[in-house]
Amino acid sequence: MDHFLYRDGQLHAEDVPVSEIARAVGTPVYIYSEATLLRHFRLFDEALSGMDHLVCFAMKSNSNQAVLKLLADAGAGMDVVSGGEYARARAAGVPGERIVFSGVGKTEAEMRQALEGGIRQFNIESEPEMALLSGVAESMGKVAPVTIRINPDVDARTHEKIATGKSENKFGIPISRASAVFAEAAALPGLEVVGIDVHIGSQLVELEPFEQAYTKVAELTRQLRAEGHDIRRLDLGGGLGIPYTRSNEVPPLPQDYGDMVRRTLGHLDCEIEIEPGRLIAGNAGILVSSVIYLKSGEGRDFLIVDAAMNDLLRPSMYGAYHDIVPLIEPSSDTPLAPIDIVGPVCESGDTFAKQRPMPPLASGDLVAFRSAGAYGAVMSSEYNTRPLIPEVLVRGDQFAVIRPRPTYDDIINRDKLPEWL
Ligand SMILES: *Cc1c(COP(=O)(O)O)cnc(C)c1O
Repeated sequence: MDHFLYRDGQLHAEDVPVSEIARAVGTPVYIYSEATLLRHFRLFDEALSGMDHLVCFAMKSNSNQAVLKLLADAGAGMDVVSGGEYARARAAGVPGERIVFSGVGKTEAEMRQALEGGIRQFNIESEPEMALLSGVAESMGKVAPVTIRINPDVDARTHEKIATGKSENKFGIPISRASAVFAEAAALPGLEVVGIDVHIGSQLVELEPFEQAYTKVAELTRQLRAEGHDIRRLDLGGGLGIPYTRSNEVPPLPQDYGDMVRRTLGHLDCEIEIEPGRLIAGNAGILVSSVIYLKSGEGRDFLIVDAAMNDLLRPSMYGAYHDIVPLIEPSSDTPLAPIDIVGPVCESGDTFAKQRPMPPLASGDLVAFRSAGAYGAVMSSEYNTRPLIPEVLVRGDQFAVIRPRPTYDDIINRDKLPEWL
């Protein structure tokens, strides 16, 4: 459930008409609903109740400082994948002991930064990483808490670009080698092995692949404990999918996910961490755009809008589906006609939807891309020198710009001319 609903024929973000924000801030613009963000975080938190747990928001999905502070104030930890994200989390007031550090390519500088600033754990992805981290920690007179990410070789049955738990993917160590790698880690003086980490992919719409992976984690926990490791923490990753369409299949609810975690892992008396990103932020955001032109082609019509692939990359990168709805609610008998919805960028890939049935729209009309709160703004770029679009946060009947639109001068002045030119 989200808080973007039609009221009196007008799309609202909580209690604010979306058109009012568009008028004040201009388009394109990202709009987030605070109530939806908090609701989704709390659903996860409650789903794991009764178990010692921490919900670490995967901030690669949405890393605006206001979003981070909101979730951190509600008790969330953060899953970071870079030194930049670590710095953002700390700047938003997240204490080091609530930050986990994931990613296959952590650099020495990033390790140092997190050890200095404080860290709950590093999720280690390879043996060379293990060796480097141990050395870095030792040189600082510290011991780095780590989990080791295992690759359970489970088919997440999701888009290939966001599946991470098959043996052919670059992530984690093969589960068959876990015993040897954990022994190696335990022997390194700069590391303290505290648990196991797993993350099998994103936008999963079934529980079964999770259950397969977690069942393997339970078995591995027993085995590693028998081999003398004090496995006391299980990081289960993120990946729960969201409904991108109103009509399509309904992904599992956090409550069902939590029940499954309890069933497969609850008896092990471990601290449970999860790293949801998309489910917390995805349906908590929309992207609002204006129609620039309606263009008739040969046997095909195009709706050219002022948002483009640089603002919302998912459709051109993954062929992802986003519901696109007019801000003025169409009446139920409005005829729909298929149309291609495209942006102004000079690439054919700048297409949001092909032959999408839409009500009649004209130049100047406003539309909203739903489910754009995760992997939206964070993946945007200034390709075609289109300024990064602003972000707005709504709480009840108030809204605030939480990232302003840069001016052309802001963009140009980031470049520097060499003295000789
Ligand atoms: C991307 C990622 C997540 C978040 O995935 P969602 O599908 O957004 O929940 C969590 N953990 C790791 C390690 C990731 O790479």
